Amino acid sequence: MHRLQRRHFLLFDVLPIFGTAAAIAFLWVHPFGVTELVLLLSMWIVTGLGISVGYHRLFTHRSFKASPAVSTALAVAGSMAGQGGVVSWVALHRRHHECSDREGDPHSPNLAGEGWKGRLRGLMHSHFLWMRRHEYPNVVHYAPDLLKNRSLVRVARLYYYWIVLGLLIPAVIGGLVYQSWTGAVSGLFWGGLVRIFVLEHIVWAINSFLHMFGTRPYESRERSGNGGIFALITFGEAWHNNHHAFPESPSFGLDWYRLDPGYWLVKGLQATGLVWDLKVPSESRREAKRITRNDRPAAGAAA
Ligand SMILES: [Zn+2]
Ligand SMILES: [Zn+2]
Repeated sequence: MHRLQRRHFLLFDVLPIFGTAAAIAFLWVHPFGVTELVLLLSMWIVTGLGISVGYHRLFTHRSFKASPAVSTALAVAGSMAGQGGVVSWVALHRRHHECSDREGDPHSPNLAGEGWKGRLRGLMHSHFLWMRRHEYPNVVHYAPDLLKNRSLVRVARLYYYWIVLGLLIPAVIGGLVYQSWTGAVSGLFWGGLVRIFVLEHIVWAINSFLHMFGTRPYESRERSGNGGIFALITFGEAWHNNHHAFPESPSFGLDWYRLDPGYWLVKGLQATGLVWDLKVPSESRREAKRITRNDRPAAGAAA
């Protein structure tokens, strides 16, 4: 198991760093054009929504119900991100919610000691070093609902093929648009490796920075925070304090004016009837958890 984790870490976490450096070097051979930009953005959005809406909101938290076609499409899109098969991702993330910022949390930045050294070590660990070697949660215990879903298990078994597909699509499109091998390589770089690199660091930043920094409008037992300025590029995942306070909610922004592209997709699919049963928390439930000024001890008040 640890050997597999190490191999996955090297292939999908370390390799994209070199891939991104190679993509920049390759600019001397083939310039960055509109095709590369479109490939990078479209593949990033598809796989990012696969993770945020599919892996996270649907499969981990069951915050809405979806038709089998939508479930499968989201599982495939999420798999192409190279962040692990859907069943193990869900098991790890449910464990994160169960033990957030306490012993057993696979990626807390707050358990590596005090002082700036401990905080820095914690950030590095929670950002990506934890993936080198970690405790593997028992999927029978943490994801029994997914194991019962035959088509989802089939998608999970083909995990490595989906990653390859996610690399082949931009390579083929690049080759066809430019009618050359260098076009194919350029497509593979920008729509494949650079896209994996960008998306994974954005997702990991939620685990690391938003468990150390950010605003806390709601009561929750761990140290999650909101980082609203990153809402758009994280597909809404940056409302991480909201999410820990109401994990059952498909909306992470909770208010219509807080940017939450993942929720926009869920609402769009709901309008077409492909998803239903959205479990958005009621106003009174939100009010009960809201941290008001009165909750904080007044300055100068006697202890
Ligand atoms: Zn979650
Ligand atoms: Zn968290």
